[in-house]
Amino acid sequence: MRNFVHRGQITKVVFGSGTRDRIPEEAEALGCRRVLVLSTPDQTDQAERTADLLGAAAAGAFTAAAPHTPVEVTEKAVAHARSLGADSVLAVGGGSTIGLGKAITARTGLPQLALPTTYAGSEMTPILGETEGRRKKTRRLPEVLLRTVVYDVDLTLTLPPAVSVVSGLNAMAHAVEALYAEDRDPVAFLMAGEALDALVRSLPRVVRRPDDTEARADALYGAWLAGTCLGTVGMALHHKVCHVLGGTFGLPHAQTHAVVLPHVVAFNAPAADEAMARLGQAIRGSDPEKAMSGSDPAQALFQLAGQLGAPTALRDLGMPEAGIEQAAELVVQDGYWNPRPVDRDAVRAFLTRAWAGETP
Ligand code: NAD
Repeated sequence: MRNFVHRGQITKVVFGSGTRDRIPEEAEALGCRRVLVLSTPDQTDQAERTADLLGAAAAGAFTAAAPHTPVEVTEKAVAHARSLGADSVLAVGGGSTIGLGKAITARTGLPQLALPTTYAGSEMTPILGETEGRRKKTRRLPEVLLRTVVYDVDLTLTLPPAVSVVSGLNAMAHAVEALYAEDRDPVAFLMAGEALDALVRSLPRVVRRPDDTEARADALYGAWLAGTCLGTVGMALHHKVCHVLGGTFGLPHAQTHAVVLPHVVAFNAPAADEAMARLGQAIRGSDPEKAMSGSDPAQALFQLAGQLGAPTALRDLGMPEAGIEQAAELVVQDGYWNPRPVDRDAVRAFLTRAWAGETP
């Protein structure tokens, strides 16, 4: 047997189609009477529609959320919230917008609600990543956990297929690392496996028909579970590598996860039997033919990402070849847990393959 600790979630989750209409009653249930609605510039329409729904309970909108939660944007948003007398924030968007909401909560204590529109999963975690200057710092702060998350599949129908794929692979990365997390527990393991099943079966359907509500709901369900895993157990080498690549070379978040994941899976596979068995089961489950073909989960993931049209090479994301050495050094610099001990040569070797788009 294995001893374990399981942390429950305090976040209320509402899931379905048309659920955005419940925002006024969910805000009221939290006692929120002056809600500041947040979004990126691209999602101003969705933010405005949500503010309209809130009617008199909307204090206003701040629609300048930006990738990687720059501190200067947060400061403007906090000033705006104060000038409007906001008593809560509501993020309509992906990890960038939800990150802004968390940064506001960390500074003001205002409670946050969210309508997530990607598969990144930030809404289910106490993790706050912020950028100051060119440095991104990530902290776990229980006080930034969201109070209420309303998943409305209808809001995800506009997420372009290419973004849906990399965002879905980002979610799969949370689930894969939860399967072998040092502090994994039976509930997290179940959620991670279920997340992978849902994402593997839904993403090809989302690519074929982005307006397929059933497929979208399945992907969003997997994303919720994967985000919950990210929030409850510790991550390992994969998340460390992506953090270094994003922070040092400004590579795009979800795309980087998509490229790196098969390579880290290949590296960790010899030290994570149970996790690999569950991942293999999820991938084979989508396609009876795969049950007959090879059983290497890293190769199968690489193939799946390729079939979905995801990027497979770090060089295509703008990473300089000369950066491989520096990245390998940064990845091994500070100690963190991984199922297989990590050394610089090994990281350099798999980053070289990932840079060139080679198989893991
Ligand atoms: P994002 O929030 O940056 O969104 C990408 C783009 O897609 C934006 O322009 C956005 O407006 C647009 N978009 C989002 N949903 C859309 C929809 N349904 N229709 C049309 N356009 C839509 O991307 P992301 O991948 O969700 O988030 C990435 C950020 O989140 C990174 O900064 C990452 O570090 C952070 N993140 C944090 C955590 C955490 O737990 N703290 C977890 C995952 C990601």
